Amino acid sequence: MPDNTAKLKKIKNAVIACQKCGLCKTRTNPVIGEGNHQAKILFVGEAPGAEEDRQAKPFCGRSGQFLTELVESIGLKRADVYICNLLKCRPPGNRDPQPDEITICTQYLKKQIEIIKPQIVCSLGRYSMQFLMEKLGLGSQLKSISQIHGQIFTTKEWIANIKFIPFFHPAVAVYNSDMKEALLNDFRLLKKI
Ligand code: URA
Repeated sequence: MPDNTAKLKKIKNAVIACQKCGLCKTRTNPVIGEGNHQAKILFVGEAPGAEEDRQAKPFCGRSGQFLTELVESIGLKRADVYICNLLKCRPPGNRDPQPDEITICTQYLKKQIEIIKPQIVCSLGRYSMQFLMEKLGLGSQLKSISQIHGQIFTTKEWIANIKFIPFFHPAVAVYNSDMKEALLNDFRLLKKI
């Protein structure tokens, strides 16, 4: 088994056994992540929804269909990139991630990113944007997602000198064609770099 795959499997086992927050009591399945274990581009969403919780796969519901479309719009396949979330377990009723859940659960995300060593990290939504920008030494440049979506940042801390791009969450485009256009437009950046 290639090295990255073995290391990611250890994380998967740790998440399956994890009881560090209350979400383990209400989830059906944890959703660890999926894709290329040597991906150059890594996407971080927020938390599994109902379909993801059922299938144990990230972004396999409606917003996931659009994420697949976005990835394919730049000539890549889902299998080329790595897709995971800030939280590995579904918050009941799809409520927002709580600060203590983010603090506890992101130990797994940090390890995933350290193992895969992507060249570009992309957040999908404002919670993952905020967490990643603070962690990557970009906290002073943090603004609202509508101000900084689609901008390319060079990371300064933790994993320095890679690119970070915040995107809107694909769910915002499911019923809004303007947001769909904005996301498709922002994704063109990825093709350029
Ligand atoms: N929304 C997310 O943020 N992540 C998923 O995996 C699905 C929906």
